[in-house]
Amino acid sequence: MNVAVIGAGAAGLATAHELLAAGHRVAVFEQSRQVGGLWAYTDATEDDPLGLRPSRRIHSSLYASMHTNLPRDLMAFDGCPFGDADGAPPTSCRPARMRYPHHARVFDYLQRFAVDAGVARHVRFGHRVKRVDLRRRWRVDGESFDAVAVCNGHFSEPRVPALPGLEQFPGMVLHSHNYRRPDSFAGLRVVVLGSSVSGGDLSREIAEVAAEVHFSGRLFRDAPLPACQTGLLKRCPPVAGFEAASVVLENGERIEAVDAFLFCTGYRYRFPFLDASLIGVGDNWVRGLYRQLVAVDQPTLAFVGLPFRIVPFPLFQRQARWFARLLNRDFPLPSHAERRRAHRREIERLRGKGVAERHYHFLGDGQIDYLNDLARQCGDAPVPDWFIQLWREHNANARLHPTDHRERPLRNRTPLAAAESAVAD
Ligand code: FAD
Repeated sequence: MNVAVIGAGAAGLATAHELLAAGHRVAVFEQSRQVGGLWAYTDATEDDPLGLRPSRRIHSSLYASMHTNLPRDLMAFDGCPFGDADGAPPTSCRPARMRYPHHARVFDYLQRFAVDAGVARHVRFGHRVKRVDLRRRWRVDGESFDAVAVCNGHFSEPRVPALPGLEQFPGMVLHSHNYRRPDSFAGLRVVVLGSSVSGGDLSREIAEVAAEVHFSGRLFRDAPLPACQTGLLKRCPPVAGFEAASVVLENGERIEAVDAFLFCTGYRYRFPFLDASLIGVGDNWVRGLYRQLVAVDQPTLAFVGLPFRIVPFPLFQRQARWFARLLNRDFPLPSHAERRRAHRREIERLRGKGVAERHYHFLGDGQIDYLNDLARQCGDAPVPDWFIQLWREHNANARLHPTDHRERPLRNRTPLAAAESAVAD
């Protein structure tokens, strides 16, 4: 089949590779001039600090100091180890940190993968897809295809909660999409809102230069707050809103005279090139998908990489392989009525468990069963034990030692670590 892939980030590269391996023809549309997507770091930021204007100029949301939040052993694509050369740290880094390389190393890795996997030559750089529609066949900006894989990423459109009083707040406001370095926070009283890894990383980094940082989020719940060399880092309850320069907390307390407020509140799914009749986006949830992957009504339209709290690269690869094989009819797809029923049952299951809509794409530990289901249909081996053990060890470390888990050695042996230590011996 002739397949259009939208985006040449990690998901688009993995998808193009699997499609080619399954014998399909591929055109990868990439709006920028390089592969790597989010990992193509830039110092540039949007003109509006919260990044809410619909015309997005900057794709990457990485900050200058960022190291991966997963060990590179887990991040690698199958058949393309994320080796020492990609992970080599500056000499001042402790060895354990090599397992969590600087973002520039991931960019190198993806560049290498694009060439080694034979994908780079299929990428049409500088082409931002504006419209995908369905006549008898798919049309991508007017060009015909049999199938489309959407891989446009979901870490570029800031999600900012509507907090009362925000518009009157006189201090600096910023979303983490626009954060690169801590310099502009020097000497300030700062509040950081956000419950994920970025919130923790950035509050620590800013606390090194700020007068004080109040961190509102789940991180550090099971662990003491880190000591900072200069500033002061404090935990605070959830934020209710603003009153002039004060931040009002849900327990009624206030943080007075706040100079800066940083939202680390995540991102939204957005597909500006797709008509709403093809796919709807609810509260951070892409509706109407079978197996979180293909449109129930149009299974030749795939969305690779939507789930979160997962190990992204291997998940992209297995989703892509399943889609590539599906297009080859290597296994049967349930009927339209059965797909609809499966989708309805899944929503009922999530609702029954009280899961909020914005968490419907959350997989966490459920990713292992999900990956194994996809692999089974493709006739592939299940997720190896070392992967599961390392994922659990990493998660436990990150929860218990949020400040320095990247510095800690990982006990579980992985094929990559074994190969590297054999070379070192
Ligand atoms: P992207 O990398 O965003 O790529 C999408 C591509 O699509 C881009 O190249 C973009 O230019 C292109 N595009 C978009 N719209 C169009 C269009 N209309 N036409 C043409 N091209 C288009 N994951 C990990 O595995 N390990 C980590 O340590 C890690 N840390 C992270 C830290 C941060 C701060 C964030 C935000 C995410 C992190 N992630 C991490 C998750 C990361 O997003 C994924 O690993 C992965 O890079 C996502 O790949 P993607 O291809 O889905 O999206």
